[in-house]
Amino acid sequence: MKYECDMISDLLPLYKDGACSNASKKIIEEHLAECPACGKMLKDMIDSTIDEELVKEKNEVIDSQAKFFKRKSALAGSIVGGIFCVPILVCLIVNLATGAGLTWFFIVLAAMLVAASLIIVPLMMPKNKLFTTMTAFTASVILLLAVCSIYSRGTWFFIAAPATLFGLMMLFAPFIAYNKPVKEHLGNHKGLAIMTAYTATFALMMVCIGLCTTPKAFFPMAFSIALPLVAMAWGMFASIRYLKANALVKIGACFGSAGVCSWLMEGLIESYGAKASSLTGVTYSSNSGFASSITCIGIAALLIILGIIIGLAKGGKKNA
Ligand SMILES: [Zn+2]
Repeated sequence: MKYECDMISDLLPLYKDGACSNASKKIIEEHLAECPACGKMLKDMIDSTIDEELVKEKNEVIDSQAKFFKRKSALAGSIVGGIFCVPILVCLIVNLATGAGLTWFFIVLAAMLVAASLIIVPLMMPKNKLFTTMTAFTASVILLLAVCSIYSRGTWFFIAAPATLFGLMMLFAPFIAYNKPVKEHLGNHKGLAIMTAYTATFALMMVCIGLCTTPKAFFPMAFSIALPLVAMAWGMFASIRYLKANALVKIGACFGSAGVCSWLMEGLIESYGAKASSLTGVTYSSNSGFASSITCIGIAALLIILGIIIGLAKGGKKNA
């Protein structure tokens, strides 16, 4: 009997879930009719299952209530915050409309918004926390710059803001591209999107600085000298991301784009040399630059040839 009880107790969980065969079911039922110990075991099993279901149901109710209250408190917080904003907004409009400029109070306020973007935004956002926080932080920093620029009655905002945007983009773009809700839209082109964002904000910064600085003749020179630098970054990105070759060839291609682009840059600096010197009072010399470009191109050629030879040797081995 003891031996049989052990076997039956092994089968009872299956029996309880209705998962055992008809033959086993018959044996178990015959045994249960004679054995009160196994009968009690089955009863305990059924009772504990009911308890588990009750606990689960209770937790679900508590969770949904907690979510409901969280939503309500977020809504109440937004409304209260909105109400506080009204007098501030009125003061802002009056200040600007009367030509009084902005008082230092608005600088403090904008600085508080920067803090709020990092503390309150992630707390209030139910999802896409990283994206909304980074966007809110960027917007509040730009706003702070604008307020300070208006307060000091300067136009430096148009230089500071694009430069800040470029700097923050360097930092945030990878996080934004690899997280919700942007990730889904980019698919396999995250790297391309990040590089495009870098290039666009860099160009914006250069154009804004160019339009705001004097002498005007210096800007086209500075901008065209920066172009090979951008081309170099794209050349390296394309080599690493899209070139279908082994690591040696990829590194070689990176050196190659660095060499060619720095050569172009040195060429531009040299051709602008006298003109740029007369504008800035600095004498430019590019001899050392050309030497490093040639070294880069030499290393590139060496690495690419070595990479191709190794690639061919491996391919040959595979075929043999
Ligand atoms: Zn038994």
